Amino acid sequence: AKTEGKNKISFYEKNIHEKSNNFILMSNKIQKGLTNKEFILFYQPQIELRTGKITGMEALVRWNHLGEGFVPPNEFIRVAEATGQIYELENRIIRNVLAQKKEWEERGFSDLELSFNLSSKSLIRDSKFEQIEELLSEYDLDYTNIVIEITETAVISNIDLAVERLNILREKGFKIALDDFGTGFSSLTYLMMLPIDIIKLDKSYVCMKNMEDKDIHIIKFVVSLAHEFGFKVVAEGIETKEQLENLISIGCEYGQGFFLGIPMDIDSINALLQVTAAN
Ligand code: C2E
Ligand code: CA
Ligand code: CA
Ligand code: CA
Repeated sequence: AKTEGKNKISFYEKNIHEKSNNFILMSNKIQKGLTNKEFILFYQPQIELRTGKITGMEALVRWNHLGEGFVPPNEFIRVAEATGQIYELENRIIRNVLAQKKEWEERGFSDLELSFNLSSKSLIRDSKFEQIEELLSEYDLDYTNIVIEITETAVISNIDLAVERLNILREKGFKIALDDFGTGFSSLTYLMMLPIDIIKLDKSYVCMKNMEDKDIHIIKFVVSLAHEFGFKVVAEGIETKEQLENLISIGCEYGQGFFLGIPMDIDSINALLQVTAAN
């Protein structure tokens, strides 16, 4: 048992060591990525489920790493948040999103809602929030079709400040979406406190054991409750026809997912918009 304990300790230490090593490596890599402008945006269509009409897009960051190909956001967002590199990254993402919105407006897609993700830190940190406010006012745009997606973790750390800032953003016209709804803590409490417009039903709900009867009842309850509060509901992670049909049958109006459209580069998404506009 003694040797076992010893081994455990050394394994543990090695693990910490490796982790911090990986962390530093990743942070250096991100820095190079920023310098080389390797971060780009993909867009995933959001669909009105009944009609199949594209009503919006979610901007999702992609790291096109030289030599390694695409690195998924889950592998670098957390490191970037911890090092503060997320601020520089998000400045670029926001500029990019707003410029894209402007371009779509000019091409006649004014009704298209454009969503982007705001990291949990950015809302709370004073200097960063001021910067975001400035960035957002650089563009002369109709903000009512721009959606800022936030997660519960962003608000949980400082609820009063979060509410205050979400109100500021809403006064400017932006819509606020609560992302990954259903995965957090006491979601209902938050629903009542937060100034939000949209709820994004997490994919863990949508894929619930292929939606057995019991699961459908739960989702139906959540969706009708959200509607009761006046929120728009967007279901995430729709991967099958069955899931789509179930969601329609319980009154969920909007959704996104691989079955409806994967995240695409700007050329592909523009081609898709062109085709659907022509129909
Ligand atoms: P999220 O905001 O919940 O984004 C949805 C994620 O689900 C995306 O992963 C998307 O590609 C994926 N997805 C879409 N449809 C389906 C489906 O049918 N099935 C499944 N299994 N997955 C689907 P992605 O792009 O890898 O992003 C992961 C997370 O990284 C995002 O989760 C978001 O939290 C974060 N993220 C992505 N882009 C940004 C960004 O620009 N800024 C910040 N702060 N975070 C971002
Ligand atoms: Ca999101
Ligand atoms: Ca989500
Ligand atoms: Ca997420």
